[in-house]
Amino acid sequence: MTIDVARARAETPGTESVLHFNNAGAALMPQPVISAIKGHIDLEASIGGYEAAAKTIEAQERTYAAAAELINAKPHEIAVVENATVAWCMAFYGFLQTMQPGDRILTAEAEYASNYIAYLQAAKTRGIEIVMVPSDETGTLSVDALENLIDDRVKLISITHVPTNGGLVNPAAAIGRVAKAAGIPYLLDACQSVGQIPVDVEAIGCDMLSVTGRKYLRGPRGTGFLYMREAMLDRFEPPMLDLHSAQWTAAGEYELREDARRFENWEDYIAGKIGLGVAIDYALSWSMEAIHDRVTHIAEMLRDRLAATPGVTVRDLGREKCGIVTFTVDGITPDQVRAGLAEEAINVTHSTINSTRLDMESRGLDAVVRASVHYYNSESEIDRFMEVLAALRP
Ligand SMILES: *Cc1c(COP(=O)(O)O)cnc(C)c1O
Repeated sequence: MTIDVARARAETPGTESVLHFNNAGAALMPQPVISAIKGHIDLEASIGGYEAAAKTIEAQERTYAAAAELINAKPHEIAVVENATVAWCMAFYGFLQTMQPGDRILTAEAEYASNYIAYLQAAKTRGIEIVMVPSDETGTLSVDALENLIDDRVKLISITHVPTNGGLVNPAAAIGRVAKAAGIPYLLDACQSVGQIPVDVEAIGCDMLSVTGRKYLRGPRGTGFLYMREAMLDRFEPPMLDLHSAQWTAAGEYELREDARRFENWEDYIAGKIGLGVAIDYALSWSMEAIHDRVTHIAEMLRDRLAATPGVTVRDLGREKCGIVTFTVDGITPDQVRAGLAEEAINVTHSTINSTRLDMESRGLDAVVRASVHYYNSESEIDRFMEVLAALRP
């Protein structure tokens, strides 16, 4: 199956007003997602929020089943939460309760700032050791180095699949094989990969995985989900509980929910939850393989054009690359490039050292322009992007 780009664009109202290369920030939502969210808000306005929730249980349940289908998990292994950070933190801070001073977390150079700040807090308050797995000459996490670092002190492998600041794809499945062989739990930040790359938790072998709705999945802002492998549920409790994640069964007792929804809390953005399910079904209707092929093709095209432009340096690392394209331009800062493009209704972001400090420091970079493409972006948008960029160069 290939992507019908004309149909994808016709179903994406935003393509009429902007050239959107900010899909790693928040992708343009397709019409079915927009309609689902608006429809639920209208229902809440006309009959009441609780009443609207009661009438849409099927659509809400579909979100769990759709998320499970997308990543080859079971619906009861999914918790739908506010964003990827909450998903990741529920897993990380929950698991942290099982760790002792001197225990080690193995992580990678491309790690996302929010995750790394959590490791630093674990180091400060709990005496946990953070160990960096070196990258190979392509900037990819070295699986050999990872294997060499495995010992009794290592209690968690926690890796970012695709970093926020570039096209790198870390070898999630090879890491999973090492984790499995060593019997070490594996937490994968799949925030930038799910929605652009087929992600299968069985093939990868991760035990916990965090996803956001608004990026490559094209869902609403303020949504995300956590995958928690069934076998992990008995190993630790969520770091916070409420009357949805647990039941107050006697004056001095509580009981946890049986399923992964113990990582949720009661109040919910129902319109967003339904919209997220519709976004996942929309992605599945194209097929993740077709999406991946198209995203990789468009990104490669953009990278080639940028690399052939004097004064422009492509900054993406990795053997395998994805839809995130990063670059710098001589004589003009990434933020100036972003602002110049924005004047022509072209959306990119600039990714700074604050999001991925270890990687950026090791490469002597302070910021890069991030142009993140999706399957609905067209070849002619690349032409226009290159024209406007050429005019910006000093
Ligand atoms: C954006 C991002 C996150 C955080 O996702 P939120 O939905 O904003 O919480 C985590 N990890 C990576 C790699 C990201 O790019």
